[in-house]
Amino acid sequence: MLLELKKIGKSFGGITALRDVSFAVNEGEIVGLIGPNGAGKTTIFNMATGIFEPTTGEVTFAGQKLNGMQPHKITEMGVARTFQNIRLFGHMSALDNVKVGCHTRMSAGFWASLLRSPQQRREEREVHAKAEELLDFVGLSGVRDVRADTLAYGQQRRLEIARALATQPKLLLLDEPAAGMIESETKALMELVKNIRDRGTTVLLVEHDMGLVMNLCEKVVCINFGVKIAEGTPAEVQANPDVIEAYLGKEEE
Ligand code: ATP
Repeated sequence: MLLELKKIGKSFGGITALRDVSFAVNEGEIVGLIGPNGAGKTTIFNMATGIFEPTTGEVTFAGQKLNGMQPHKITEMGVARTFQNIRLFGHMSALDNVKVGCHTRMSAGFWASLLRSPQQRREEREVHAKAEELLDFVGLSGVRDVRADTLAYGQQRRLEIARALATQPKLLLLDEPAAGMIESETKALMELVKNIRDRGTTVLLVEHDMGLVMNLCEKVVCINFGVKIAEGTPAEVQANPDVIEAYLGKEEE
């Protein structure tokens, strides 16, 4: 078990965003987190990355409790994410955006960097090569020197994935990775996510594109109004009456 949510609850003021949500993501899985707008999906991501602390319950990663841990510590432990509203350094090149992600794993300290020690210069070369390799992996080597904010939506989403991968995560959280993508881009994204998993990174994704979720994920968890209403294989979840009702509304008697 890599990520485990144990009876998680989260309140904002008087509003309960999540109540008693439990599920696990096992190593090597691609898991889909679905649910209507406002169900609480992004809140789960925010708790797994240290942005919010759960009001009740516990989140663990590789057996270690994440409650109260700082986001950068959680990144160091091996959790990375992308955002629903893309958050790149728009004025920087694609390559530099990925290099920023690589710096989580650099060991040269302040003085070594200031004095440009041989160790620091070697690390910089390694970071450059790693960032190039990741851009190639996500299919963006052709735009490595292009400013991030001038890239097409689909490319920006891929770039965010490359930057997240640069932190060498064990678990990658993707928040609506297919949003704004045309069909051919979504297909390519599915291949990319499979390749990410095959390289050894477990994936938990929030997505509204049901075709993508059902074809890509081995397990699906459905949240509605902050409560888990289903968990199982894509086929099981798709056939679950509570899930159908959450998406389509209850049929008139
Ligand atoms: P969507 O698919 O629309 O992105 P979601 O399932 O990701 O929705 P969340 O963004 O997790 O839903 O929101 C769940 C609930 O928590 C909503 O009622 C939302 O208004 C509330 N909420 C989320 N973040 C905050 C916050 N920072 N402050 C106050 N309320 C919040």
